[in-house]
Amino acid sequence: MVNKKQMYDVIVIGAGAAGMMCAATAAERGKKVLMIEQSKKPGRKILMSGGGRCNFTNLYTTHENFLCSNPHFVKSALSQFNQWDFQALVIEAGINWHEREHGQLFCDDTAADIVKLLLDRCDKSGVELLKNCTLENVSGQQPFVLDTNQGQLNAKSVVIATGGLTVPSMDSTDIGHRIFRQYGHKVIPLRPALVPFILQEVSNGPLKILAGISLPVAISCNKKSFSEALLFTHKGISGPSVLQISNYWNKGDSISIDLLPDENAADWLMNARETHPNRMISTQLAKQFPKRLVEALMPLWKISDGPLGQMKKQLQQQLIDCLQSWELTPTGTEGYRTAEVTIGGVDTDGFSSKTMQSKKAPGLYVVGEVLDVTGHLGGFNFQWAWSSGYAAGMAIK
Ligand SMILES: Cc1cc2nc3c(=O)[nH]c(=O)nc-3n(C[C@H](O)[C@H](O)[C@H](O)COP(=O)(O)OP(=O)(O)OC[C@H]3O[C@@H](n4cnc5c(N)ncnc54)[C@H](O)[C@@H]3O)c2cc1C
Repeated sequence: MVNKKQMYDVIVIGAGAAGMMCAATAAERGKKVLMIEQSKKPGRKILMSGGGRCNFTNLYTTHENFLCSNPHFVKSALSQFNQWDFQALVIEAGINWHEREHGQLFCDDTAADIVKLLLDRCDKSGVELLKNCTLENVSGQQPFVLDTNQGQLNAKSVVIATGGLTVPSMDSTDIGHRIFRQYGHKVIPLRPALVPFILQEVSNGPLKILAGISLPVAISCNKKSFSEALLFTHKGISGPSVLQISNYWNKGDSISIDLLPDENAADWLMNARETHPNRMISTQLAKQFPKRLVEALMPLWKISDGPLGQMKKQLQQQLIDCLQSWELTPTGTEGYRTAEVTIGGVDTDGFSSKTMQSKKAPGLYVVGEVLDVTGHLGGFNFQWAWSSGYAAGMAIK
């Protein structure tokens, strides 16, 4: 039973990945911890993650897997609690897991195993959990006064772990960002990331028929490039390569797609031309790509069909350019509804990278996605939640 009148050492706002990790870590150090959660179910984003199997970390995590205005900020927390530390917790809890490509670790059975791991740790260490409790405002400082829909709460320290704006149906809000603004912190503008693109050519144009086609590509934008699968959707493009590059895309930017990521397009075409001069261009393309894709791309790229051997130099170069760097300008993204993360957030500049404590308001901490730290696709965002949650949990006085 939560005693709302008492002065807690720390109140953690939000029982998500970062909040639960932080609460358990602080309570294991003997702190009197209350964690409040607006919904009746902690860890809802964990439950829906990784297709229900939670890609809980990545074996190759380094600071280079994160976008942040200060690229060095994540280093300290990552070194205090790294991917192997979380993997060890998973093993200790008896959760079956497996590794997928690029070092991504997933649960064998269900993401609920990860939520249980965190809740068990909170429970064992004596964290008090108040569900259906929504933070409305924070005022004062050491002690802090918290206004909630269940009345006022008091704590010597407060950890904001309210996450980002993705999945609006889960009542995701910018409350965390607003509170930090109140305490004089800057917020780097927010936008959805790890998110599919909308393309006019697909949603309302000649590529509409491609929905469901998936192929390996390399996508580039703003000097970043990712080689993974691309998937055509009903509205545009998705798949790992697209989600990854969306972190680096700003409205108005074009993206460049290399449809032959493992080959040199010029060599590929010249070899075919020499060995099969009578082969039609469309036949050659269909040897490499799905037929539907070839039928849609040739008219879009203005490539008229004919024998490879009779291709004019200009047409040949045009095809090579299109294959190697197909330029597209997304009209937008699918937004927070389908995004996995929020890019931007509370500026790390005002915080200690070692403790996650505010330099402007001692006793006020920030962890997880509410900060201006965004991971690549592949388990890095959860690793940031674990690492930042741990760092704050170890530092709370
Ligand atoms: C569909 C989907 C799949 C994903 N898959 C992966 C994956 O496989 N691997 C990976 O690394 N990342 C994945 N992510 C990203 C990952 O889920 C987030 O980066 C991570 O959950 C952030 O943790 P957090 O604790 O900061 O925030 P959250 O997990 O969002 O937790 C915030 C908590 O705060 C609560 N809260 C908010 N406001 C209030 C308030 N006013 N009062 C009280 N409580 C409040 C919320 O209800 C929530 O429980 C995925 C995201 C989505 C949307």
